[in-house]
Amino acid sequence: MSEFTATISQDDSERNLRLNLSESQAMQRQLINNFSHELRTPLTVAYGYMQSIQRRSENLTTLQKNALEVAIFEMECTIQLVQESLELARLDMNSMFLLQELVSLNKLVSEAITVSQNAKGRKIVIEGEELNIIALIDPEHLKRVLLKLIDNAIRYSDDVITIRLEKLNESVAISICDLGYGIPIEDLPHIFNPFYRVDKSRSRNTGGSGLGLAFSKRLVEKMGGILNVYSQLGEGSIFQIIL
Ligand code: ADP
Repeated sequence: MSEFTATISQDDSERNLRLNLSESQAMQRQLINNFSHELRTPLTVAYGYMQSIQRRSENLTTLQKNALEVAIFEMECTIQLVQESLELARLDMNSMFLLQELVSLNKLVSEAITVSQNAKGRKIVIEGEELNIIALIDPEHLKRVLLKLIDNAIRYSDDVITIRLEKLNESVAISICDLGYGIPIEDLPHIFNPFYRVDKSRSRNTGGSGLGLAFSKRLVEKMGGILNVYSQLGEGSIFQIIL
């Protein structure tokens, strides 16, 4: 009898602990959501003023122009950070609406490659282009994930990037492969955590917010998929989306 009572009370306290945890996680997300929302407007206004000063910068000294350029860059990074925090919180609170459309992945991948190539000028090759792969996804959001993963591949490597399309048994895969720095094995379990950076100084200089992979993984999961990473230090990385 006492054993039975003990089991019940242990179950109850575990359930209460789980409830308290999920309540405090929900409060935390709500707080981030409100905080980011409140920050976005004043930052955007201040950014607008800085840009208008930059447009009329004839009377500024070189020192002032340089300082303004740095301030604008930092402001852009902060606005991006706030925007991504807001979206991450919304995704975690299930308050981001995702479409479900049957879309040609070949077309979507080609579009993402064209956008990245035009912006960054890096050579990107596609494998499996001849396959006709249709998947049920949100096209704009999957394209954002592809652009983010290609952007990372460009930032963390110097060589050609390959995008591979494959049909697996019951699913399809899009792999973004680079021959860059790679990720140390001890960092791999953490790189999808918000704000986790392998090399903080290098990542900060490249302008990343540290939220891109966390956001991408959650977006892919909301579409019913998985985002995997395989990497070897000094050899390169493969980020694989399975849908
Ligand atoms: P960031 O904005 O800092 O790039 P991400 O969330 O996109 O943030 O990535 C988290 C960290 O994972 C990066 O700071 C970087 O250290 C590492 N990383 C991401 N993609 C790659 C890649 N293709 N090769 C090597 N390291 C990568």
